[in-house]
Amino acid sequence: MTLLKMEDWYDLARETNWTPGYVSEEALYPSPMSNDYGIPVETWEGFDEPYKVSYRDYVRSQRDKDVAAYSVKAALARSDFFKNASPHWKALLALHFSGVCWAEFHSASAFARMTRFSRCPGMRNMATFGTLDEIRHGQIQIYFAYEFLKHDAVFDWCHKSSKTENWIIISLRHALDDIAHTRDATSTAVMLNMGLEQSFTNLQFVALSADAAKCGDHSFATMLQSIQTDEARHAQIGEPLVRILCENGRKQEAQQMVEISFWRMWKQFSALSGIGMDYYTPLEHRECSLKEFMEEWVIGQFGRTIEALGLDLPWYWEFLKHDIATFHHAQQIGIYVYRATQWWRPIASVSPAERAWLEEKYPGWNDTYGKCWDVIIENIRNGDYDKTVPVPPPLICNMCGLEVSGIAGGEWQAVDHFVDLDERRFHFCSEPCKWIFELEPARYKGHRSIIDRAFDGTIGPDMDDFYTYMGQSPEERGVCGYDYQWIDGYETPPTAAAAE
Ligand code: MN
Ligand code: MN
Repeated sequence: MTLLKMEDWYDLARETNWTPGYVSEEALYPSPMSNDYGIPVETWEGFDEPYKVSYRDYVRSQRDKDVAAYSVKAALARSDFFKNASPHWKALLALHFSGVCWAEFHSASAFARMTRFSRCPGMRNMATFGTLDEIRHGQIQIYFAYEFLKHDAVFDWCHKSSKTENWIIISLRHALDDIAHTRDATSTAVMLNMGLEQSFTNLQFVALSADAAKCGDHSFATMLQSIQTDEARHAQIGEPLVRILCENGRKQEAQQMVEISFWRMWKQFSALSGIGMDYYTPLEHRECSLKEFMEEWVIGQFGRTIEALGLDLPWYWEFLKHDIATFHHAQQIGIYVYRATQWWRPIASVSPAERAWLEEKYPGWNDTYGKCWDVIIENIRNGDYDKTVPVPPPLICNMCGLEVSGIAGGEWQAVDHFVDLDERRFHFCSEPCKWIFELEPARYKGHRSIIDRAFDGTIGPDMDDFYTYMGQSPEERGVCGYDYQWIDGYETPPTAAAAE
């Protein structure tokens, strides 16, 4: 018996909408879970996924990807690689795995919601594969990460981090909860697929994979590629959905969902990929700067994609072009100086050669962020390690949960964007973070940043209370990844040189 070709049966097989006989439509697709935006179900049935795959073919290709990734790993005796890896790469692996493993695994829940509650049969089909993808991404990454546990307890955080109240984790969890875990299936699909997967995962998986291959970390590179090919497939859920919304009078809603989710994810990727690419990747293996990747893949490619779908560029697009060259440099300083609040060993990555690269990629870096590092270097040189750690806590944005920062040096123009509501003041790092809050204050105002919690008594008064609250035993508090040796490249202290 010959098998039918997929194109001969696919459309018929996915026609799985029927009229329920035992329950009402509303009971089967309750609107808090299945927001149809007032668009008739026949229109939703027109959802046509650009990438069609049968279950048989899906399983075959996923198995091939797993075999490739796991066999490269087995062949390369990865533990030796880790022992010899630089503190740069170790910091990057720790940051990636502890931020990404559980986020991927939790994504399965968002896709399962799309599978169950979408009104589009084609989307339910794709989301089923998406659910399986995300389970695999959680599992394969935690498996690869855990191999290092015997060398370094920091990898415990690949699993543990999501369950803690560490401030960086609060920031990431708040953003992902907002776009992926607390909205109906339609909105989640637009926000997760357009605002995260189609726009940003390339940064963390294609760009990082290229850097990993250059560093000789081939098993990490192969694994990252196997993940991104899945993301690129299931992210395509977003496009037909946005098209249906735009063509049926719901452009404004679609536009707003993309603007919220894209901004929230940009803040997260700016810290994760920005620091990963421009600081943690060893200099000799860097492919491109964050700014270059963002200009090509996000400002360029993603911008063209959303315009082609009938949306406008987000209102903050010009500000974004500025933010891609600035925000993560300030965050890197914050991450290094508040290093004890991280579970990994952060590195400064501002040796003279690295600074030359930063200055080339971000003209003016030395006169701005470099000036902050000059002070840190001077203090380390004098043995004043305590002075490299600020005493006051930072101001934390009540939306993104990251530090409110500005451009250091002569271009300093930090602005505290704020909203006064319910007898308190909410602080924001930027106009877009504030704008998101003001769209739905009731949704966001109950969240308390780590700093709010320190002042409202949730966290005890001692520094140890603070670390205990964040799940960090004394051994789990970050220290300089190079034990301050990175300043050896500075022959003469900058200020001493000026005084001579
Ligand atoms: Mn994934
Ligand atoms: Mn995904």
